[in-house]
Amino acid sequence: MSVHLTLQKSYGCKGDYDKTIAIQKCGNYPYELTLRFAQCCLRCGACFAAGYSWFDKFGNNKRVRSNIPIEQIIADFQAILNPPFPHINYNWMRILGGEPLLNDRYIEYLLETLIKLSTIDANKFNNGIIIQTNGIHIGKGNTNILKNKLIELYKKNPKVVVVIEISIKGTNPEEFKLISNPEGKLFSGLQRFEFSTRLEEALFKYNIQSYYKLKELELPNLRPTIIAGYGISESFLLTEGRSPKSTMTILFDTDTPTYHPSLWSDNFKRLYNDFINDWKEFDNMFSKMPMYGIKDQFNYGWVRPAIGRTKKIYKGRFYDADYVTHRNPSVESKFKDILEKFFLKSNQEYYSTLIRR
Ligand code: SF4
Repeated sequence: MSVHLTLQKSYGCKGDYDKTIAIQKCGNYPYELTLRFAQCCLRCGACFAAGYSWFDKFGNNKRVRSNIPIEQIIADFQAILNPPFPHINYNWMRILGGEPLLNDRYIEYLLETLIKLSTIDANKFNNGIIIQTNGIHIGKGNTNILKNKLIELYKKNPKVVVVIEISIKGTNPEEFKLISNPEGKLFSGLQRFEFSTRLEEALFKYNIQSYYKLKELELPNLRPTIIAGYGISESFLLTEGRSPKSTMTILFDTDTPTYHPSLWSDNFKRLYNDFINDWKEFDNMFSKMPMYGIKDQFNYGWVRPAIGRTKKIYKGRFYDADYVTHRNPSVESKFKDILEKFFLKSNQEYYSTLIRR
């Protein structure tokens, strides 16, 4: 079983995409370190990384490499610690995809890498690692390797905190399908799944369950969390777009944006409440659930292809107040309900809080 990484280049550097670990512009200067996987078990319509995530696309991406020796990742990490890069602490280390926890082989490879990096110099990433996942593999109960490796990491460097942030792809099974498999192409990519139920119901269940599976591990260096990660962006509205012009979403039905509280299934409601109970003491911002979407990054060039693709896939279900010919006051008024339930902070504030000891 191969592990696929997406090669990167550091922010502000010229040259090729030829690094496993890179400095990316996220949070305040000096920004973050990232390690980026390729391939995913979902196929979200608004995936910002479709070219190296979608299972029918990643194999043709020139930046994707398979089975890179961990030593090469270590070498790229050490290169960042030396000149010409500044000798300073980066905000955190973020592991993203693709899907970094795609299967046991990915988990083993990732955690072995993190153990080595944490032994060399975890201060360089403030002893904070954030892994972004859809949680499907974990939600099926595949936590043994993760658990053993996190214990090993704790023994090697107890200061390192590992946040696993599960992107929750909807508030009910139909919404999950709309977000993570809008073209209905997933089944061929997931033949190994044995379902007695509909695909979207099973996957949604795993997506939600992953939070509880991680909590059950009760590890001192593991911090599970969730985020509403459906890829478009009511979240732009949550931060700054208080004007209706910023309204952009996928519609669940004619008048209702996805994630609207009227759509929530019982298990999403339970997850929402459990999460807030678990986290509100940690920091006041968690009196609501975090939310993230591509329009938050609207000014970046790499977001535009994702929005273009999304418009094509969702057609009439894609609602953007800037461009619709007939504004829908009912849709726009429902954003207020969403604002009451979710929040989005700046990356600096949000990720720094997640890794705070
Ligand atoms: S889960 Fe994430 S990486 Fe996978 S397809 Fe969806 S948005 Fe892309």
